[in-house]
Amino acid sequence: MEVKILSANFDTKDAHKIKVAKKHGAYSTLDKLFSMKPEDVTDLVKNSGLRGRGGAGFPAGVKWSFLPKNTGKPVYLTVNSDESEPATFKDRYILVKDPHMMIEGIIICSYAIGCHDAYIYIRGEYTTQVKALQAAIDEAYAAGYLGAKVAGHDFKLDVTVHRGAGAYVCGEETALLESIEGKKGQPRSKPPFPAVAGLYGCPTIINNVQTIASLPFILKNGADAYKVHGTEKSPGTHLFGISGHVEKPGMYELPLGLPLLEVIDKMAGGVWKGRKLKGVIPGGSSTPVLLPEEAKTVTLDYESMAAHKTMFGSGGIVVLDETVDMVKLVKNLIDFYHHESCGQCTPCREGLGWMLKIVKKILASDGTIDDVNLLRELCDNIEMKTVCVLSAACTMPVRSYLDKFRHEFEAYVATNDSLAAEAK
Ligand code: SF4
Repeated sequence: MEVKILSANFDTKDAHKIKVAKKHGAYSTLDKLFSMKPEDVTDLVKNSGLRGRGGAGFPAGVKWSFLPKNTGKPVYLTVNSDESEPATFKDRYILVKDPHMMIEGIIICSYAIGCHDAYIYIRGEYTTQVKALQAAIDEAYAAGYLGAKVAGHDFKLDVTVHRGAGAYVCGEETALLESIEGKKGQPRSKPPFPAVAGLYGCPTIINNVQTIASLPFILKNGADAYKVHGTEKSPGTHLFGISGHVEKPGMYELPLGLPLLEVIDKMAGGVWKGRKLKGVIPGGSSTPVLLPEEAKTVTLDYESMAAHKTMFGSGGIVVLDETVDMVKLVKNLIDFYHHESCGQCTPCREGLGWMLKIVKKILASDGTIDDVNLLRELCDNIEMKTVCVLSAACTMPVRSYLDKFRHEFEAYVATNDSLAAEAK
């Protein structure tokens, strides 16, 4: 089931060190890279069908081609290493276990888009990852793979690691740019999109760690070798983090398109302690929950997830067993997103706080069915009325729990509703 492209060297001792990484092929694509025209590299990535692995799944090569030509301004690449979506832990594996694969990917992307200053934006709390990454960048400079002449070619590239202060919203690409610029990390209104006016107002490409780390394989082996794996519209592999109530939680690199339930059973050992499956969060906390019968039919790709009214997201799969109280889960969910709201939009700042108050009231058995209905109504009224999708990242999953597990919310308010009925 597993296909090791990104994780090929994860089990190799000291693969994070340049000497070992080079023995396993690191930086071996650079001569080929510099023999190609930049636009041919972009076409290759387009042909591979590589989709952004940060959550949105937008085709990477197509995104690069949105950059305006000959603006006279510098072009920037920013690698998004914020990885703050709860249940997501894939990028940090790359940063610690095979950082040179990502640095090689940065060189490939930078050459294709004409970038000479790339930034890696990483959560400040990820101290282990920051240290590993900086050590690898220092090694790459010392070996001549970064700096004035990359690998001896007439191409200059500097890479800077920028540590964030730890905010979920800084994973949103324009909040990330604001943070690098030294401002409060809050999303910008769009358009203009970063490809046109990004970092310091210049054309900017923002790609996730895993997206960038996939480039050396594609350049070395060709688009077809990448498309052998996965589905026609969702090619390649993905690092799936499986957590929650399973026997063998962990990170598994799998081709896209595999049946979700089969992956949970065969790779992660199935639901733990012989318990029954209650639901599956398929791609991080912001993705709508799937019922067991939906988990049976959905496959791990963008199209199947959309057909099941959820999202592929980050590929952070959380398995929920029969003991999970969905009302408590929803309270934790709202609490998190409310805390992480940057506060500039009223529906997000106030609305998520209002939702939190309501779910706390329901949990304290002080609520009525009107509170359950109001919570559901708020989901519809908050969504898509804000500057960024953080509010929707909360309301989309909350709506799914309310619709699929409504009886659990009703059970919390049943006593008050029957008292009210008696009083009438
Ligand atoms: Fe900030 Fe929330 Fe508005 Fe996003 S939706 S910009 S997080 S207030």
